[in-house]
Amino acid sequence: MSDSDALKPATRAIHSQYHQDAYGSPYTPVYNTTTFRFDATADLLDVVEGRVRGNLYTRWGTNPTITELEHALAGMEGAESALAFGSGMAAISATLLAHGRKGIVCVGDLYGGTQEFLVRQCQPLGIPVRFLLQAELEQLESCLPEPGCLVYCETPANPTLSILDLRDLAARAHRMGALLAVDNTFASPVNQRPLSLGADLVVHSATKYLGGHSDLTAGALMASQQAVNAVAEWRKNLGQIIAPETAALLSRSLRTLPLRIRQHNSNALAVARAMAQNPHVRQVHYPGLESFPGHSLASRQMDGFGGMVSIEVNGDGPTAAAVADNLQLFLLATSLGGLESLVTQPCTTSHHGLSAEERQRRGISDSMLRLSVGLEDPQDLIADLEQALAKACG
Ligand SMILES: *Cc1c(COP(=O)(O)O)cnc(C)c1O
Repeated sequence: MSDSDALKPATRAIHSQYHQDAYGSPYTPVYNTTTFRFDATADLLDVVEGRVRGNLYTRWGTNPTITELEHALAGMEGAESALAFGSGMAAISATLLAHGRKGIVCVGDLYGGTQEFLVRQCQPLGIPVRFLLQAELEQLESCLPEPGCLVYCETPANPTLSILDLRDLAARAHRMGALLAVDNTFASPVNQRPLSLGADLVVHSATKYLGGHSDLTAGALMASQQAVNAVAEWRKNLGQIIAPETAALLSRSLRTLPLRIRQHNSNALAVARAMAQNPHVRQVHYPGLESFPGHSLASRQMDGFGGMVSIEVNGDGPTAAAVADNLQLFLLATSLGGLESLVTQPCTTSHHGLSAEERQRRGISDSMLRLSVGLEDPQDLIADLEQALAKACG
């Protein structure tokens, strides 16, 4: 089956996976095995020494179920190569350790786990780490003293959905001999392909949109073969491989990714527009709204605006919590990107670890609620939000 670039994303999502089953299954089945047998030592040595590509040992990633998944993951981001991991944090930590040891400069808001890894593990290991707010971007060049550093960012960012200019960031990083790594979890490769905008490495929590059903934990890295090879050594020895069962489940999910993301995009836009009209809502953060500060940039670098919407209710933190508690369809739960809509209050969940002062500096108010808009009928979701807002704020 062709996986040429000429095919549109929805077609490629279905037809780009290898077909290795001797019995005619259209998709590679789960190779639930840790090892692979050889007929002769010479054959085994050919694989060990890299003369022949072959399956050897699952922790190394040489397992057909995992290889098929990685082929599909690379295709989605337009990358030469990809690695699958047991979680998003596994992909992120291995990438930072392989490419960030000379220094890491983070721009804008970061996922809490990434921030914690940088502060609690990377800095004590002696890796220089700097954090810049989006407004401090002009300081980037002076934070990159020598070539070989890594610039790291997320866009849209959690939970403000603020947008960074990836072309500009890539150009700045490359001028200083640094690589740019982007966590593309919020956008998904359907809405944004950072490599095509100049980034060097893309990481994902596949637990979110790529998996899409809130039933698996996984991660991914997409990059050039050379950049991927450097990370593969860390994955192998840190033992961060994805399980074959999970790899098969994730491959299944990728086939419907374009379809799901299209609906997430349109449901979130409908919810954002309704919330912008609601008298109990002070502000709506959604890149698809014309009034959003990053809207024109997002329109240029994204093909869709995603399924995440943040709202600030009229009232204080307890009022926002009461809105969340009164929602019936939106489940009060962390995570995002699944079929079902979720709600969290960032100051009590993802950003609970930050001081109130730091949250304010980052524009995260106590009255903010983060919505992961799922695939239910958007009118039902809007009605649910309206009744909860009326009860808590009315
Ligand atoms: C959830 C998430 C992660 C971490 O992924 P896990 O699969 O939970 O390890 C990293 N980055 C972003 C943006 C996330 O939302």
